[in-house]
Amino acid sequence: MDKSQGRTARPDAAPAAEIVTASGHRGLQTEEKLIFEQGEPGRTGVDLPAPPKVADRLNGLKRQRPVGLPGLSEPQVIRHFTRLSQKNYAIDSGLYPLGSCTMKHNPRLNEKMARLPGLADIHPLQPVSTVQGALELMDRLAHWLKTLTGMPAVALTPGAGAHGEFCGMVAIRAALDAKGQQSRKRVLVPESAHGTNPATAAACGFTVDAIPADDRGRVDLAAFKAKLGPDVAAIMLTNPNTCGLFEPDIVTIAKALHEAGGYFYCDGANFNAIAGRVRPADLGIDAMHINLHKTFSTPHGGGGPGSGPVVFSEALAPYVPLPYVVHGKDGFRLVEGREGKAEPLGRLKTFHGQMGMFVRALTYMLSHGADGIRQASEDAVLNANYLLARLKDVMSPAFDGPCMHECLFDDSFLKDTGVSTLDFAKALIDEGFHPMTMYFPLVVHGALLIEPTESETRASLDEFVGSLRSLATRAKQGEAASFHAAPRLTPRRRLDETRAARQPVLRWKPAAPTRQAAE
Ligand SMILES: *Cc1c(COP(=O)(O)O)cnc(C)c1O
Repeated sequence: MDKSQGRTARPDAAPAAEIVTASGHRGLQTEEKLIFEQGEPGRTGVDLPAPPKVADRLNGLKRQRPVGLPGLSEPQVIRHFTRLSQKNYAIDSGLYPLGSCTMKHNPRLNEKMARLPGLADIHPLQPVSTVQGALELMDRLAHWLKTLTGMPAVALTPGAGAHGEFCGMVAIRAALDAKGQQSRKRVLVPESAHGTNPATAAACGFTVDAIPADDRGRVDLAAFKAKLGPDVAAIMLTNPNTCGLFEPDIVTIAKALHEAGGYFYCDGANFNAIAGRVRPADLGIDAMHINLHKTFSTPHGGGGPGSGPVVFSEALAPYVPLPYVVHGKDGFRLVEGREGKAEPLGRLKTFHGQMGMFVRALTYMLSHGADGIRQASEDAVLNANYLLARLKDVMSPAFDGPCMHECLFDDSFLKDTGVSTLDFAKALIDEGFHPMTMYFPLVVHGALLIEPTESETRASLDEFVGSLRSLATRAKQGEAASFHAAPRLTPRRRLDETRAARQPVLRWKPAAPTRQAAE
């Protein structure tokens, strides 16, 4: 057999028919050099006056050699960064079906609001009398979060979902300690949980006890009940869970847990599937973080900061961390210390949280309205179920029945084809789509987790389905070799991802002078 066709082929080896260009560019895709490789000493885009002659006061600390900045003209700089930006795949360039990440369209209105000078140019240390509008905005956001969840209190400061988990679990620890229950140390975490859940529990000094999933991809209720005991501090449960499924026994779980003296932490990163339809308070939840950067737009991993406010039940409300906004007779103010019956946890973050994210989330809420938020959740679930329905005869759904905001497949449809989940995802890139989340959640073999979000049109979903169906058929027809060679049409072929992660080359070093290099 021709080895170049098989799995052992060098992944970056060009197929024979591939066109080689003199420049290295492909079509209008530029093979972009590093900025340091493009620079020439002395070239510049600015014309500064010569510095005035002043006496040297550096006491010998003056730099001996040039800084080594690349010398470039303005057009060179503009081209370089424009070309780099074009190499990014973004939600603004196409469907971004990463499950668990909620890469939904970020309305431009959000950005416009976040840049309003009255919000963008204020300083956290300004007197509160001069930032009444900003505090009112935080108060309004808090109101919406409490209303949507039915919970009485919210901590706005956590800087991301995982930070929110930390906030919630520290509050649970404080509530247990206040009751003299220091011995409650065990936290139950379903096997399908996002990795941040067990990590948070461990970071807060709890021990993690995994609950198995049943064959429907849900928490095994009998196994859960068997684990309850006087040392159980809490459960950390995601709903909808990371298989994209609603936990139907959640009310029973909450009741049994509360009777056993534990607290219910819910990972609400997937709130976008139920916002406007289900109020977490009605499910018996004590603390839940909400990823503003998933549920209320701003794609996850989109480069900006995240924000993970936590809503608290009556039992945990006294522990809300500082600072928080209250409205008194002199307008809005920030509470920065202990007041009334509160037992605040202290501070989790400098100042008051991610203001820009508050503005974006509130803009999203107000522009959608209560009915619009509900519809966004419903459309997200509808789109995921549409994909599931159109793909289930050629791919293999991990579980029976409808899904929530994301649909999950395992790799059994690829059995005996020689094509792996990774190969399949790489081939999808040649089709012009960003791959779905792969190999997560871990409870499913070779998982492919797809989250289309509400903002995709039927036409874009159909196009995506067309590619997936074609790939599934080609895999089954024995075209494994072409999958192993994918992606073929990208500027780079398959990379050594392990090496890239373990030995990242983050610094450019000038080439050694030729004389030295020859030695
Ligand atoms: C995204 C996510 C998290 C973590 O949120 P970050 O903002 O990345 O810290 C936790 N749990 C689930 C289920 C998630 O999808």
